[in-house]
Amino acid sequence: MNVSLEKLKRYIDEAKRIVIVGHYNPDGDAVGASMGLYNLIANLKEKVQVVMPNPFPDNLKWMDKEEHIQNYQAHKTEVELAIQEADLLFCMDFQAMNRTEKLEEFLQASQAKKILIDHHIEPKEAEFDLCFSDTQVSSTCEICYRIVHTIYPQFINKDAASCFYAGICTDTGSFSFSCRHAALFRAVAELIDFGIDPVAIHRNIFDTFSEQRLRLLGYCLSERLVVLPALNTAYIYLNKKELQNYNYQAGDTEGIVNYALSMANVYFAAFFTERENRIRISLRSKGDIDVNIFARENFNGGGHKNAAGGNSYESLEDTLLRFNALLPAFHAGFKSKR
Ligand code: 5GP
Ligand code: MN
Repeated sequence: MNVSLEKLKRYIDEAKRIVIVGHYNPDGDAVGASMGLYNLIANLKEKVQVVMPNPFPDNLKWMDKEEHIQNYQAHKTEVELAIQEADLLFCMDFQAMNRTEKLEEFLQASQAKKILIDHHIEPKEAEFDLCFSDTQVSSTCEICYRIVHTIYPQFINKDAASCFYAGICTDTGSFSFSCRHAALFRAVAELIDFGIDPVAIHRNIFDTFSEQRLRLLGYCLSERLVVLPALNTAYIYLNKKELQNYNYQAGDTEGIVNYALSMANVYFAAFFTERENRIRISLRSKGDIDVNIFARENFNGGGHKNAAGGNSYESLEDTLLRFNALLPAFHAGFKSKR
């Protein structure tokens, strides 16, 4: 066991109140890593709480059957108190505390030891006491699984293993990207040895759409897909009204951006949705085209080379105009990398 892992084990052994927190708009990896770790630590400690900045999608609810997770929008006081009282904080699947939005001030103010487990580019190490961050690894779940497998192998159970598998599965697009390393598949084989059912997990996550969500996807593709062949780019946009028309629920727009990228000649795809006080932007690319840099430079965001996100505080119309204006220069940079 290396020094960092020994330190982590000591922190956990000594902790009295542990809080595990995921990023804003929690996805399969954030919920999977948080609940995987929770399932395990709950065997060791009485006081462990998982908190999220806002609600997570219904297709991930099976990881939290007992509705243990508290989201800040619905449980403000409880979440604030839990963070204030914690002596150990786990930050899962985000590289900087501002990714937790309104929870940031409470995380910053907390006196707890802060542990980062993550795989995003440019972690803000100064915000944490211990960082387990590796951008080469598929998912936070894969990193988290390796950590617990080293320090508490005897406590990994089927529930924890299922959550870790879920995050690996969602963050690799069901093993279609970020999955070049044999080590990933060895970890997956080990998870299967814990008795998980990959077929059932896949069905729970990907085959549980509501009718409205499927129709929203249809609308995006038939009415709101813009293809720019000369720029090898495609994008989709939705305004607030359109989201309401389809009774938008958390997670309903997850994955839609990938359809824009699925055309042969398209190497760069974007998806814009109008939210309460901002335009949310998802970016995807193929090969060596770096959307993390594009998100950082233009939309206050970041992420990974082939999958990143950001925000715009202009109107949807102005955001699209600005995006279109950025395209020729970005395309000139990536043309040779297709
Ligand atoms: P998505 O498009 O699925 O929301 O996000 C794609 C990837 O980019 C995810 O790994 C996500 O964590 C990251 N990401 C999304 N939004 C932001 C953002 O505003 N800032 C940073 N640094 N990363 C983001
Ligand atoms: Mn992730």
